[in-house]
This record gives sequence, structure tokens and C-alpha cells, in this order.
Amino acid sequence: MALYSDKVFDHFRNPRNVGVIENADGVGEVGNTVCGDIMKMYIKIDDGRISDVKFETFGCGSAIASSSMATEMIKGKPLDEAMQLTNKAVAEALDGLPAHKLHCSVLAEEAIQAALIDYYTRKGLELPEELKKAAERAAKDEH
Ligand SMILES: [Zn+2]
Repeated sequence: MALYSDKVFDHFRNPRNVGVIENADGVGEVGNTVCGDIMKMYIKIDDGRISDVKFETFGCGSAIASSSMATEMIKGKPLDEAMQLTNKAVAEALDGLPAHKLHCSVLAEEAIQAALIDYYTRKGLELPEELKKAAERAAKDEH
């Protein structure tokens, strides 16, 4: 039964950075209709870096493991690095996900981008190119 890697199990059983940031600088909420996962991502930004990140995920094990891993990967990182985090990198860091569960890692990427878009929008700043595409995509499929 090697459907899920040890890392997926580890992050599912002991998810990192679960919770809410009360006065977050950006909040992103995304969902997918495939397994009904809902993911909410909170970020705190200081000096152009992600100083804190927390998430709440109501969803399948892969979605929880992906959000946990994704938060670990962007914590402390500069914004331009965080916005380039791909679902592929998250899935690889988890030592892979079953093909039919890859969309759950896509959600982690989208949730982080949505939180960053929220941050830039609140600040009245122009969206960087990387996020413009994500914003257009989000407006188009409006899950
Ligand atoms: Zn899922």
C-alpha cells in the first residue's frame, strides 16, 4: 500500500501551521469541486517576506498534507519566491501524490496566490505579473 508517501502521512497526521492569523495581511480562500476541498490561507508580511502563515483546510488528506507542506515552503521567504511556488514543487516535496490527487496540491498553490493577491489589493499595489495570471484564472473559473 504505497499509494501515499511517508511524508504525505506525516503532514496529514501532524499538519504544520494550522490555524488562523487574526490580523493577517492577506487571506485567500479556494476550493475544488472534485473532492470538495476548501482551503483558507492567512499570511503575515514583514519587510517583503512571509513572516507567518497559517491555514485551515476542510478536505481530504492530500489537501491537508499539501497545505501543510506549502506553508512550510513559503514561511520566511520573500514574496517573489512565495508567489512562484508551484503545485508541482509541493507534490515533489511530499515525495509525490497519486495522479488523481494532484489537484489537491494545485489548491495549495492557488490558496497562497489568492492570499498574496488579497495583500496586494488591500495595499493598493499593482499585482506582479505572476499574480496577474492567477487572478485572471481565478476570475474565470470562480469555483
Ligand atoms: Zn482533495
